[in-house]
Amino acid sequence: MRKMNFGAGPSVLPMEVLEEIQRNIVDYHKMGMSMIEASHRGGMFEDMYDECLSDFRKVFSIPDDYDVYFLGGGATLQFTMIPMNFLLKGGHADYTRTGSWSNKAADDAAKLGNVSIVFDGKDSNYSTLPDPKEIRPSEDSSYLYLCSNETIGGIEWQDFPDTGSVPLIADMSSDFLSRPVDVSRFAMIYGGVQKNLGPAGATVIIMRRDMLDKRNPGLTAYMDYGKHAKERGLYNTPPVFSIWVVGLVLKWIMANGGVEGMLEHAKMKSGYIYDVIDSSSFYRSPVDSRYRSRMNVVFRCPTEELEAKFVEESKKEGMVGLKGHRSVGGLRASLYNALPMEDAASLAEFMKEFERRNG
Ligand SMILES: *Cc1c(COP(=O)(O)O)cnc(C)c1O
Repeated sequence: MRKMNFGAGPSVLPMEVLEEIQRNIVDYHKMGMSMIEASHRGGMFEDMYDECLSDFRKVFSIPDDYDVYFLGGGATLQFTMIPMNFLLKGGHADYTRTGSWSNKAADDAAKLGNVSIVFDGKDSNYSTLPDPKEIRPSEDSSYLYLCSNETIGGIEWQDFPDTGSVPLIADMSSDFLSRPVDVSRFAMIYGGVQKNLGPAGATVIIMRRDMLDKRNPGLTAYMDYGKHAKERGLYNTPPVFSIWVVGLVLKWIMANGGVEGMLEHAKMKSGYIYDVIDSSSFYRSPVDSRYRSRMNVVFRCPTEELEAKFVEESKKEGMVGLKGHRSVGGLRASLYNALPMEDAASLAEFMKEFERRNG
């Protein structure tokens, strides 16, 4: 029987997509070879690639003055590439510290240049976010950086700051394509695909073309966004398998209501879980309810022993991935786009039943 997969990443993929891979992995659409055997300089790959990029633009409403392509190295490589390219020598960049992922990005940037912290959630143990209206970039900032959804802490920006002429850069790894976003407010959006979009291996880069004029000189080839933009992401061998599957996931998103449909699903699925938490004195959410994530629902039981028991017993019900991140403990249910509605409902039922037996 198929598991209900609440893992934070790599994570659940749509069954239809897995079956499509299975049908085509050996002989891609009767072309006599597999996509993962094909040259990235050949027609078979490039036809698939063009369609994937054009579907991405369509699904996420990406304006024409943005480049879209995939890189390797995970989202983590971007923590280095962004400041290398855009944190101008002698200048500074603004960072919001809202949890594990933005903190890692800020720490890496601080090794390469001057970083100003415009928000630090440390005092609240990263359980809340600022009001976007109160975030102001500092003068002459090279860019302002945020993480739209903190995968480990379980908090998500519901709206974004207006940074005026200062470029806004966002890591959307864990809520990519889970809601409509006005891309034109951002200079750059990026994210690893292994949470909401496909198998590990690719990172999507969406970048307004005028950013390329602002980059530092003297970059080595791979670290230079200019190189990748010029070659449409094919400067070196791209993560072919991952890109193929992202293309299939994009078709699946289109067939399921687009990003608006994903948002409706995300509201319902997270609603099931938050409703149980809110109506219980057994479960507790450690995060500010105004900013709680629709993708990663973090919650606690009264004791760590009960949390361990919850994980053990949920496994027997076919539910995997509910243990919180090792850095924070507790429990976490990741409810990415591909998680079926029924799985979220089953988890809510299990939670109620677990409380009845242990509360
Ligand atoms: C998972 C994750 C990352 C790291 O991704 P890698 O591909 O493992 O480098 C970065 N940011 C966010 C928000 C994430 O969820």
